[in-house]
Amino acid sequence: MARLAQTAGLTDVQQEILSTVRDFVDKEIIPVATELEHRDEYPQQIVDGLKELGLFGLMIPEEYGGLGESLLTYALCVEEIARGWMSVSGIINTHFIVAYMLKQHGTQEQKDHFLPRMAAGDIRGAFSMSEPGLGSDVSAITSKAVKDGEEYVLNGQKMWLTNGGTSSLVAVLVRSDEGHPEGTAPHKSMTTFLVEKEPGFGEVRPGLTIPGKIDKMGYKGVDTTELIMDGLRIPANRVLGGVTGRGFYQMMDGVEVGRVNVAARGCGVAQRAFELGVQYAQQRHTFGKAIAQHQAIQFKLAEMATKVEAAHAMMVNAARKKDSGERNDLEAGMAKYLASEYCKEVVEDAFRIHGGYGFSKEYEIERLYREAPMLLIGEGTAEIQKMIIGRRLLEEYRFQG
Ligand SMILES: Cc1cc2nc3c(=O)[nH]c(=O)nc-3n(C[C@H](O)[C@H](O)[C@H](O)COP(=O)(O)OP(=O)(O)OC[C@H]3O[C@@H](n4cnc5c(N)ncnc54)[C@H](O)[C@@H]3O)c2cc1C
Repeated sequence: MARLAQTAGLTDVQQEILSTVRDFVDKEIIPVATELEHRDEYPQQIVDGLKELGLFGLMIPEEYGGLGESLLTYALCVEEIARGWMSVSGIINTHFIVAYMLKQHGTQEQKDHFLPRMAAGDIRGAFSMSEPGLGSDVSAITSKAVKDGEEYVLNGQKMWLTNGGTSSLVAVLVRSDEGHPEGTAPHKSMTTFLVEKEPGFGEVRPGLTIPGKIDKMGYKGVDTTELIMDGLRIPANRVLGGVTGRGFYQMMDGVEVGRVNVAARGCGVAQRAFELGVQYAQQRHTFGKAIAQHQAIQFKLAEMATKVEAAHAMMVNAARKKDSGERNDLEAGMAKYLASEYCKEVVEDAFRIHGGYGFSKEYEIERLYREAPMLLIGEGTAEIQKMIIGRRLLEEYRFQG
């Protein structure tokens, strides 16, 4: 059978990287993923393997010790990894966003200081916009930085940090009023701080506490945490890009590539759900034949495969657009929206094909069923994607009458 989700026009290097990652996923991730997930255990051995493969530096330029690969290569690797276990792609994703933001917006000193160790996977990144009172509405951020000599003093509470415990560098978005008079638009008075800390929980740096892991329905193994800043002192040279007031735009740039990444995760999880569904449908017999021979099940498989193909094509298109240097917010929003919705639907159909066994923790589809909903939320909900898509469409199709 021709495999689904093929990508035309890849270079030899891209094909080699992908085949290495796929091999790693089949041998090192799939056999252990469900067991580790049920125990909510951090996949240290897998992370060490990814480090060895150089995946933490995939998109970091070669001059800083990375592989200097494109967003497309990165997204296709993420798709493969999520096919094995979505949580592992989550471990890479926030790291990738922070490295991307540093590459695009960091000062030379910041790039030299962080990127080589990020490429080696020795420093791992998390990014933090959300707070207990807000997620979609980033402009409502209340955490604050106040200048005090050559330092800033940060106070406030952050929520939902993927890799909050295991990371040693967090890009934190806060409000910084200095230099921005009263009445400045909210998004123009935000600043990204590069906060270094010890990995772990509790007080990981004076004034900075990571209370513990949030207990989640799925997406286990990877830690998701709160972050509390209480008089946290950060030197002025750790303002991303060296200038305050640019944080909102820097974060939105990071989230835009993050959206392609979430779309890729949706593609990977949907592919795995299809694989599980199509295999089970040929093994399970009812009324004297394999259920795959019932037209109703074949129709389900046809719909699932079509969704896998469509989501993959949109994700690849969004990544290629960004790689070409063009604005891709429309394509990334569409890809993220479609891939996450289709992923949920394909997983649901694979679950139904499994009948009662889909409800048993012995079957992998049970894990996927708890993982897919996260993709509907992360890097902006479906409603937020539709707002972005709608706004861009009205720009492109402005009425000229
Ligand atoms: C497992 C997990 C990991 C996460 N990791 C990170 C991370 O690493 N860093 C980080 O910063 N954040 C992270 N998040 C937070 C995530 O980005 C937010 O949960 C998400 O943006 C939604 O925000 P919210 O939960 O506050 O929902 P809300 O913004 O309160 O939205 C609630 C509902 O209202 C809808 N809604 C909101 N505004 C509108 C509107 N204008 N029009 C129509 N509908 C609207 C939303 O679509 C949603 O359905 C994570 C979340 C989860 C669950």
